[in-house]
Amino acid sequence: MRNELFINGEWILPAKRGTFDVINPATEEVIHHAPAGTAEDVDAAVRAARAAFDHGPWRRTTGKDRAVFLRGFARLIRERLDELSEMEVLDNGKPLPEAKWDIGDAAGCFEYYAGLAEELDAQPSEPVALSDDRFTSKIVREPTGVAGAIIPWNYPLLMAAWKVAPALAAGCTIVLKPSELTPLTALELGTIAQEIGLPPGVLNIVAGLGPEAGRPLCDHPGVDKLAFTGSVPTGAKIMAAAARDIKNVSLELGGKSPFIVFEDSDIEQAVEWILFGIFWNQGQVCSATSRVLVERSLYPRLLDRLVEETRKIRIGDGMKAGTLLGPLVSSAQYEKVLAAIAQAEREGAMIASGGARAKGMEAGYFVEPTILVDVPLESAAWKEEIFGPVVCIRAFTSESEAVQLANDSPFGLAGAVMSKDERRAERVAAALRAGIVWINCSQPTFTEAPWGGYKQSGIGRELGRRGLDNYLETKQITRYVADTPWGWYIK
Ligand code: NAD
Repeated sequence: MRNELFINGEWILPAKRGTFDVINPATEEVIHHAPAGTAEDVDAAVRAARAAFDHGPWRRTTGKDRAVFLRGFARLIRERLDELSEMEVLDNGKPLPEAKWDIGDAAGCFEYYAGLAEELDAQPSEPVALSDDRFTSKIVREPTGVAGAIIPWNYPLLMAAWKVAPALAAGCTIVLKPSELTPLTALELGTIAQEIGLPPGVLNIVAGLGPEAGRPLCDHPGVDKLAFTGSVPTGAKIMAAAARDIKNVSLELGGKSPFIVFEDSDIEQAVEWILFGIFWNQGQVCSATSRVLVERSLYPRLLDRLVEETRKIRIGDGMKAGTLLGPLVSSAQYEKVLAAIAQAEREGAMIASGGARAKGMEAGYFVEPTILVDVPLESAAWKEEIFGPVVCIRAFTSESEAVQLANDSPFGLAGAVMSKDERRAERVAAALRAGIVWINCSQPTFTEAPWGGYKQSGIGRELGRRGLDNYLETKQITRYVADTPWGWYIK
């Protein structure tokens, strides 16, 4: 576990020599004192990234050159998959098979963007058909510059990959600030960068607290683009900081995503996807389908089966074989989720399953997988993101009611619909105001497909080709080709 920040290709102690505790959420033990970067370190990192972008060899690389580095990241992540996965479990709490899935996905993300980096070489410019034949025009795409990336704790290495891989593929340099709750695996990207010989300053990693390290990164005039994943309130602060000097900004924020289940659905499939949609990663998933709407005729049977399966979910330390639900990431998150359940009860909801600290766990931030029913539409539990293993479920009577309830949210990250009637599923998918819609499933995420939200769930898209566009500027180069003078002033 690293004690230093990764700046300009070197491991450097934070200027103020500060640290913050890294806690294993399954045991509440302090497992590391991570380096706490502050404004001085952020400044050094941005200067290094700026120099590497403006004057370094990175500027002259082709997409093919950059793809070699990106594949290097992928190869070394895969080689260290077991070690990185265990580190992720100790840091975040998630069950080991989930961590392995995430780390493999992070490697896949680097591989995917290696391919897109090569494609940039294949299409150096794009002609534009103009309405005036005295001119020709073409479009070229260029790296945006220095990116500042700030990420959350729910997928520590994967969220880093979602930003670092496309930024480097585009030819940007980057300063990454991991979450103060889970800095361990993101810092390992620095070790990998050294091993693959990435030029100094191209990737810099400054761990630290939000206000002390994240904020100076947003405020730094040397940063051209801010890429943020996290909560809506922090996203608003980042957008405000970006507004001061008009930085390019992309935001991946929260959600309260609906899952509509029609009565013609296979009940076993529906139950499985509802469970996966809310209990994977302890429900700490931005796109978690935390509001389930079930057609009234199916509702009682489906609820019974859901409760039955939820009670079987094995809770425990993520390192223990067979664990399906680990602890929440921190004591603050644990308190927040239990408080949200208590408030839901006060506001009239009933607990159909769970609702309390997991029994038999001496230490750790364990909350039972929880199903809330009769949740009032005006209650906080129905409207606000809980970011824990808590699902609200209610019945609907018509397709239009289901769609209206689903869209009645300030968020618009994801939504899901389940029905054997393909036309109905497509109709509902079209009606949902969300950036990601799953039909007959919930949550599967592919590096190739764009990711991001409508409304307060964010601005811009990550992943897929759109994810690369996040780090590219578009330049038009227009040439006057006529032999005759333009003839405005000089006739
Ligand atoms: P958070 O907003 O508290 O923190 C996210 C990051 O921002 C952390 O690195 C933190 O240190 C930093 N930060 C905090 N204050 C800052 C400031 N003033 N200036 C700059 N940086 C600052 O979010 P979190 O608790 O880490 O993550 C949970 C949230 O993230 C949830 O709302 C979830 O929905 C969202 N999320 C969204 C996606 C997505 O793709 N849309 C993915 C994962 C998580």
